[in-house]
Amino acid sequence: MKYISTRGQVEPKGFIDTVLMGLADDGGLMVPEKVPTVSESTLQAWSKLSYIDLFLNIFALYVEDEIPADDLRQLAEKSYANFRHPEVAPVRQINDSLHIMELFHGPTFAFKDVALQFMGEFYSYISKKYGEVIHILGATSGDTGAAAIQGVRGKEGIKICILHPHNRVSKVQELQMTTVDDQNVLNLSVKGNFDDCQKIIKDLFADLPFKKQHHLRAINSINFVRILAQTVYYFYAYFRTQEAAAGRPINICVPSGNFGNIFSGFLAQKMGLPINKLIIATNENNILERFVKTGEYKPGDFRSTHSPSMDIQVASNFERYLYYFLNEDAAKVSAYMQQLQSEGQIVLSGADLEQVQQDFAAHGASNAECLDEIRKYKQQYDYLLDPHTACGIAAYELYNGDNEVCVTLATAHPAKFDEAIILCDIKQDFPAPIAALFDMPQYQTVIDHDQDEVVRQLESFYTLQV
Ligand SMILES: *Cc1c(COP(=O)(O)O)cnc(C)c1O
Repeated sequence: MKYISTRGQVEPKGFIDTVLMGLADDGGLMVPEKVPTVSESTLQAWSKLSYIDLFLNIFALYVEDEIPADDLRQLAEKSYANFRHPEVAPVRQINDSLHIMELFHGPTFAFKDVALQFMGEFYSYISKKYGEVIHILGATSGDTGAAAIQGVRGKEGIKICILHPHNRVSKVQELQMTTVDDQNVLNLSVKGNFDDCQKIIKDLFADLPFKKQHHLRAINSINFVRILAQTVYYFYAYFRTQEAAAGRPINICVPSGNFGNIFSGFLAQKMGLPINKLIIATNENNILERFVKTGEYKPGDFRSTHSPSMDIQVASNFERYLYYFLNEDAAKVSAYMQQLQSEGQIVLSGADLEQVQQDFAAHGASNAECLDEIRKYKQQYDYLLDPHTACGIAAYELYNGDNEVCVTLATAHPAKFDEAIILCDIKQDFPAPIAALFDMPQYQTVIDHDQDEVVRQLESFYTLQV
């Protein structure tokens, strides 16, 4: 299997080189040259597999012989050994039409662990096997950073620097990142918002000599391996719901920000998984909702909400969707991205917009709706939603049709976002690993929103012997 860029200017690469490259050298995103499809009988066979076996079967289609099967199995087993649930991503039935897939049983209590635990093991393997220097650089709205740091802390041959928006992540998110005292971890707390952090990272990765000189590796969902690792649980969610659905169509609803998670669902669908509707849930930063409803993709004003991990206006994985939407025509993708750059928006209409609306339904929940859903589900089902999942539930309630079943992805544990839970007058007990964070010292460097300062910080971090 070879991988190419959505903008068409990168020589086809193998799986390992694709992961190491992160953002494509031409500024696009890497995608498989051809998406593998699975037959109905394969789906049937896969439906009985354990999470790890399903993972290995899906990865085999994309990695082929680049990583020996035994090595891949070891990597997968190590990645999910730290999860607190034997099924990795269990599905809970809430009522006749609603199932919730809990993606928060990993070390940092958010769905990012599912892909980033694997990515940490993968980078460590590549570093040992090929002697590659791995300097991970990423921006986070909170959860990616925590998960990525947990994935590689203390690992030999790897350094990680994470930028997060100063005072704009939840307390628990901040503590999860900054209480790590391993020498191979650098936390930069940037005075700005997430989009500012992401822009700095994107610009540094676009500076190819700098990227090469410092061996920069991406952990954001621009990296295809994250998309692929997340694809696994769409299959798993579908299979675990099939029986209760009893022939009814199955929708999947996804709290979304950077469009990475839901793009994994789109990929699963392209591979042949018969998901009926993919429902995008966002918050008041509703660029994706506006896009699906009006065809206008245009970053709006940044809003701080109760679901900070979705406070994103520029959804980096949107370009991957655009690529498939435009029938894999890289020249057209480049033209659209150019237009987005110069005019600040992309507008689709007519048959194009209808196509988008066939691919997705979308809802951006208001802050009030988010809190209402948390209260309601606690009261009716004694189930405590985190604020991101609550936005998902609001979208499920609007777009799940009669006689359809929906799996809503629970992207985080409520303990990570107690700020919102308190507003609902609900008192929760923290799981022990989260409670312990409050007594630990923090390690972070607060800096201005300034690319040169980030470069200075990185250069001194990379010369440090650890
Ligand atoms: C990252 C995150 C999201 C958004 O996922 P994307 O892949 O960026 O769309 C939603 N909820 C939580 C809790 C997250 O951490």
